[in-house]
Amino acid sequence: MHVAMIGTGYVGLVSGTCFSEFGVDVVCVDKDRAKIEKLEQGVMPIYEPGLDDLVAKNVREGRLSFTADLSRAVKKADAVFIAVGTPTRRGDGHADLSYVYTAAKEIAAAMDGYTVVVTKSTVPVGTGDEVERIIREARPDAQFDVVSNPEFLREGSAISDFTHPDRVVIGTHSPRAQEVMRALYRPLHLIETPILFTSRTTSELIKYAANTFLATKISFINEVADLCEKVGADVQDVAKGIGLDGRIGKKFLHAGPGYGGSCFPKDTLALAHTARDIGVPLRIVETVIDINTKRKKAMAERVIAACGGSVAGKTIAVLGVAFKPNTDDMRDSPSLDILPQLQANGATVRAYDPEAMREAKALLPDVVWCDGTYETMEGADALVIITEWNQFRGLDFERVKALLRAPVLVDLRNIYNPDEMVRAGFDYHCIGRPLPL
Ligand code: NAD
Repeated sequence: MHVAMIGTGYVGLVSGTCFSEFGVDVVCVDKDRAKIEKLEQGVMPIYEPGLDDLVAKNVREGRLSFTADLSRAVKKADAVFIAVGTPTRRGDGHADLSYVYTAAKEIAAAMDGYTVVVTKSTVPVGTGDEVERIIREARPDAQFDVVSNPEFLREGSAISDFTHPDRVVIGTHSPRAQEVMRALYRPLHLIETPILFTSRTTSELIKYAANTFLATKISFINEVADLCEKVGADVQDVAKGIGLDGRIGKKFLHAGPGYGGSCFPKDTLALAHTARDIGVPLRIVETVIDINTKRKKAMAERVIAACGGSVAGKTIAVLGVAFKPNTDDMRDSPSLDILPQLQANGATVRAYDPEAMREAKALLPDVVWCDGTYETMEGADALVIITEWNQFRGLDFERVKALLRAPVLVDLRNIYNPDEMVRAGFDYHCIGRPLPL
């Protein structure tokens, strides 16, 4: 079995590498030559735990290679995966499908023999039909099927998510394409992963519905956290108390600074726009988007309030700028709202992130980037935790207090215990949890 993976980003690189680990011959393609050159030298273009070793192993064993030459990779392939970006289209909130359609045209020109073209990118309902139309128009003679196979991996745990998923969704009614897809995912079938075969349209919608549902859980618990703060309840106990109910589930009930990342913000927006265009507005989704946008903006105000109502002339130390731990992905991270707002209010921001600073530097100008956790705090008037990297979970409180000008700690991820922090002498601020009297 030969696979061509078009797009060697977070999804394409991980999926391609994992398929090669399953024993398939995979060529990862990217039009970004710098990325391909790096990969050929064994340098990962993204940070994803365990990826470098898995790539090296499969390259060494001859099942995984990289190229900028799409045509050569596609010619040989039984299945061609489209794993290019589908960012928000500038101006109107819809998904920008130009990368998908360009890839479809390039694939059409190169296809040789029966080929399964698989959209792995997150794409709105109807995109598979358009990909099919594009290919058919360019190559009326070609034998192919277009399949939807959305990806559910999470950055930071992408390899285990891909190799041990909760389910695989495959959208096609073509028996021939089903056979190819079944063969590709055979190792997962053997470990009894549920594989859901459905229509292409349904498969496309499943991905958006899944992401939007998870985003809804986050916005829900964030609003409950606001209520907890007013009534003196503890949002973490509320989350536990409801999450232990199997119908609700424990995950995605962590109150925080709002969801970010490369998927939830753009996917909720794209679904809301598609639904409104079709005349079936999804009001819950529209409200979730609104809550999250306002929440990210409200976080800087919390920091300002914790600093006595003004940060003008003050220095704020920030730990973590990535949208979550174990990734260098900065797309739609809450830090992109919080840091500029603190700066606009007159603060100097010193920040550190273990992996995301290279990405962040271009997006967050005038930040003083520091080399380590404690260096960030030197002479700062307050410490703000935005991303819950493990190394921020066990801070030496005495050292932190000695470095800060005032012991103000704003913990936007609730990683510390309020009682302990108050006992340790901090002016501690968290999300939706009462402080000891
Ligand atoms: P990314 O931006 O990291 O990578 C996309 C890559 O595609 C880039 O390297 C780009 O150069 C390349 N590319 C674009 N057009 C190309 C072409 N014609 N030929 C060759 N290469 C081309 O994107 P990503 O985060 O991997 O996301 C890809 C898709 O997967 C998106 O639709 C996203 O919504 C979805 N998805 C992402 C995640 C995630 O956690 N990042 C999870 C599930 C699904």
